[in-house]
Amino acid sequence: MTESISLNLNKIKSSLPKNVTLVAVSKTKPIADIQVAYDAGHRVFGENKVQELQEKAPNLPNDIEWHMIGHMQSNKVKYIAPYISLIHGVESLKLIKEINKQAMKNNRVISVLLQFYIAQETTKFGLHYEEAIEILESEDFKSLENIKISGVMGMASFVSNNEQLKQEFASLKTIFNRLKTTYFNHSSDFNIISMGMSGDYPIAVQEGSNMVRIGSSIFGARN
Ligand SMILES: *Cc1c(COP(=O)(O)O)cnc(C)c1O
Repeated sequence: MTESISLNLNKIKSSLPKNVTLVAVSKTKPIADIQVAYDAGHRVFGENKVQELQEKAPNLPNDIEWHMIGHMQSNKVKYIAPYISLIHGVESLKLIKEINKQAMKNNRVISVLLQFYIAQETTKFGLHYEEAIEILESEDFKSLENIKISGVMGMASFVSNNEQLKQEFASLKTIFNRLKTTYFNHSSDFNIISMGMSGDYPIAVQEGSNMVRIGSSIFGARN
């Protein structure tokens, strides 16, 4: 089991272009499994629940870069604000303001990704383009100094139709390009396109992803 974790990790890493960051999604998996991946040289891990992250982080090396990839409630930001590296699933001004507030308390600038709705499935979270514009144009947003929008994130439909996946990923890349030209042309910090999971990351990478979030293909299926 532990052997397969490092094998899986190395196999995936060697298949990714150099510019693509691999977030190893360790949700539901024990600390021992994360330690195996760490010992194999990996440093970037993703969790989707604040409580789970809070239980794991103190028991693992502190040079791990933790990413929050799940849907976040504003009232839980305070717990992870001291150490979180990147929050992927940001989709409201309320959450943005709370992240800014907690970042300020910790004397930090926290990087986040705006999550966009790209799937044809109705179950997924995310902003529509116009909603993102509304946030970025608001005076409330412009006054925030402890939050940095570092890019976009999206989840494709859970389907095996490659053509549909391609289209959905391409739509996120288009959104990224539009935002980059319109709002972040002078910011080298706005450079992340987080898309692609175990089942669809090769297509996501083809369509311009530079950050993939992979769990089960590294750590095995979750219960
Ligand atoms: C669980 C999860 C992943 C990883 O899923 P796998 O299919 O196990 O690779 C990626 N992104 C998000 C937002 C997740 O919740």
